Amino acid sequence: MELNVSDIQHFSLGDGDGIRTTIFLKGCNLHCPWCHNPETLSPLPQWMRFESTNLEELCGSMVTVEELIEDVIRDEDFYIESGGGVTLSGGEAMLQADGIRLLAKALHDRGISVIIDTAGCVPYSEFEKVNPYIDCYYYDWKSCNEKDYANVIGGNYSLIWNNLRQLIEDGKKVRVRVPLIPGFNTSGPYSERMCTCLKQAGVTSVDLLPFHRLGAGKYHALGLTYAYQQTPPLSIHIAEHISCIYRKYFDTTIEK
Ligand code: SF4
Repeated sequence: MELNVSDIQHFSLGDGDGIRTTIFLKGCNLHCPWCHNPETLSPLPQWMRFESTNLEELCGSMVTVEELIEDVIRDEDFYIESGGGVTLSGGEAMLQADGIRLLAKALHDRGISVIIDTAGCVPYSEFEKVNPYIDCYYYDWKSCNEKDYANVIGGNYSLIWNNLRQLIEDGKKVRVRVPLIPGFNTSGPYSERMCTCLKQAGVTSVDLLPFHRLGAGKYHALGLTYAYQQTPPLSIHIAEHISCIYRKYFDTTIEK
């Protein structure tokens, strides 16, 4: 069994507890216009050409589960010492649930923690394939509005909401992650609606991820237009203001 991989980052510190290896899976079924990993959207291999260095790089390759296991267990001692593990991100990792199941089971059997970062737009049966081997889901939540999903993000809002509720009901550990996108989901009333909606699903903790433009160079390297090129990063002052709303409902952090 092979997985479609865009990148593997060793010694990641921002993708969960401790020192982790983050595997970025290629292919996504949503199309958030602010996405900072545009190289993961298409399942096809893509050339990226970076103007600043004049380097070209082919992004995307099929890697066997055995090769991935061999790669990530090189850092096993670091995971154990730091309370870390492996994070599967993307793109949408859950589009490759069959391969992930094999990988996550092998790591779980060795006592290595596995986190999946997902936007949740797959049938719940895909989650059931991997649930026994996953320590925590990082569940990206972008909107509380069916029309936003239909018109801006793509995907099926009801499916995403029901999957979130079901994961919590099934006793899985879930951290909801909300990207704070200027002009989209950062107003006071919108934030209140987001909180109400997440509370109804049984959510207890939320990480707020203020918008930044760190992915801009990758759009250029792929020859794509970045819709948020002119949008300034969200100030920490505004993020703090929004977090006051979320703190009324949840254990809330802001990614710095
Ligand atoms: S779900 Fe994530 S990877 Fe997919 S388009 Fe949105 S931000 Fe990008």
